Amino acid sequence: MSIEVQQLRKNFGDFKAVDNVSLSIKSGELTALLGPSGSGKTTLLRLIAGLEQADSGRILFNEEDISDRHVSERGVGFVFQHYALFKHMTVAENVGFGLSVKPKKFRPSNTEIKQKVQKLLELVQLDWTADRYPSQLSGGQRQRIALARALAVEPKVLLLDEPFGALDAKVRAELRRWLRRLHDEIHVTSVFVTHDQEEALEVADRIVVMNKGRVEQDGTPEQVYDHPANPFVYEFLGTVN
Ligand code: ADP
Repeated sequence: MSIEVQQLRKNFGDFKAVDNVSLSIKSGELTALLGPSGSGKTTLLRLIAGLEQADSGRILFNEEDISDRHVSERGVGFVFQHYALFKHMTVAENVGFGLSVKPKKFRPSNTEIKQKVQKLLELVQLDWTADRYPSQLSGGQRQRIALARALAVEPKVLLLDEPFGALDAKVRAELRRWLRRLHDEIHVTSVFVTHDQEEALEVADRIVVMNKGRVEQDGTPEQVYDHPANPFVYEFLGTVN
């Protein structure tokens, strides 16, 4: 699923959180929205998801205008930094949740849900945790379960907001490699928000650098790293998180 964002704007009062952003993302690409805190990354992600309504501009999925479509009709899956799993549900119930709440007409049978959950848990290499509760897992394992849960409904677009932000450096590094591998396996068009340039450089096919609600540069990691478009990008890439 390709994503096209055209002249998107979102203000909060007088503040321009997203200020005339245009970009196109190819089907199957893993794109990082990179920038300092407050640069509008999360707002842009939420606009793509349909969790916020833009003041103006359009969003197209596969060349179809979906700007007015409700979040539930956009076919997107999410992983958030603090995407709490349901504590009172087992891992398997968490992963199957999105399927079990589908309208009856679209809901798979319990056996089908079970099989699908098993496959997803194998995909994230945590099939042995099916009957455990989230509290029995590590932070990194929980985020992998959150990913499996997001993928259960076969999203056309996967959106990740600082997915590893809350984890320590070693687990983050492990999960980065792991997200890259997973993406190479399933090729779902994915957009993730990060303020960590290392993370973007290591994981993404494509980096969109944002500042003050605007896109400063948009290119491959090599382009952005080797040829920063302006002093802001140059300085930002030089900072250490
Ligand atoms: P980033 O993800 O790059 O840190 P955000 O998109 O979260 O940036 O936020 C951009 C700016 O918009 C921030 O200054 C934030 O305070 C403001 N903002 C975000 N959401 C809201 C909201 N619901 N109401 C008012 N201001 C908001």
